[in-house]
Amino acid sequence: MAEISINEQIKRRGYISEIKPYIPTIDLIITASNIGKLEVNQIVSKIHRMQIEDALRDTRQFFASFYKLHDVPSLRYLLNTRFLKFVKRQKVSPFALPVIPKTVTDEAFYGGLITELSKDTYPPISFIGIELSSLVTELTSCSYTHEITHAEVDSVNGAIGSYYNSEVLSVFIELQIAELLAKGEKILRTEDKRRIYEIETLARELKEYHQKRLLKSEDDALIDSKYVISDVRAYNLFSEYYYGSASTKEYIISRIQSIFDGNYTVEELLNEFMDIDRINDLNPTLSFSKKAIKYFNR
Ligand SMILES: [Zn+2]
Repeated sequence: MAEISINEQIKRRGYISEIKPYIPTIDLIITASNIGKLEVNQIVSKIHRMQIEDALRDTRQFFASFYKLHDVPSLRYLLNTRFLKFVKRQKVSPFALPVIPKTVTDEAFYGGLITELSKDTYPPISFIGIELSSLVTELTSCSYTHEITHAEVDSVNGAIGSYYNSEVLSVFIELQIAELLAKGEKILRTEDKRRIYEIETLARELKEYHQKRLLKSEDDALIDSKYVISDVRAYNLFSEYYYGSASTKEYIISRIQSIFDGNYTVEELLNEFMDIDRINDLNPTLSFSKKAIKYFNR
């Protein structure tokens, strides 16, 4: 999909089209850096290897106990040569999308959804498969859960208003399964460490990009903006869930189910728990909530 520009992707996915690389505040960069330096966020846990079938099963069982998933549009190449292409389009369970192992150096978290964003078929989005790191570990079910969530929410027209928020649910649900996977929150803390590093690095790079001290394409800056904004908002929401009563947890899960069902939007959910700017705001103010700070200090 690399050949389609971000703005073209935004158009085909039906997001609000106007978008600019986000300008992070110094405060956000410093806060993320301070969180990363906390002693509790420096501990490295031993992550074990796993069989792929077991990792995928953990994800299926997780979804079965929390969410009811709908089928998603899939595309399968029956023949794919330079001259002849035959494809089969049908709706399938997201778990029926082929899992494709990919060799990635030093990236146990790697996951990717192979997607076709068509201009002339409806629905415009179809899924071809899910790539996961060929190094299968206890983290693999987190990555698989992340991509299954994308398939669910990305196939519902209008479920996400802004490109900036297109990672929120995938990151949130990834944290939700991470908390359940191991005793003592080993997997959850590994996830936290990785995301904090991501927020800190991308926010700093975006700042340098705007100061013209770092060269990167506008598309790369837009992708970085999406991750920084979605990550921070996902953590603000997850800390509400983490510290929430049983009924708050149940409420958030039921709202996410409504998003999957096409009756509610990611922005409406975020607005219930935090002050997000108008969804078409080109440079939203973004900071960690008090609860998120408490969460990282736990
Ligand atoms: Zn994602």
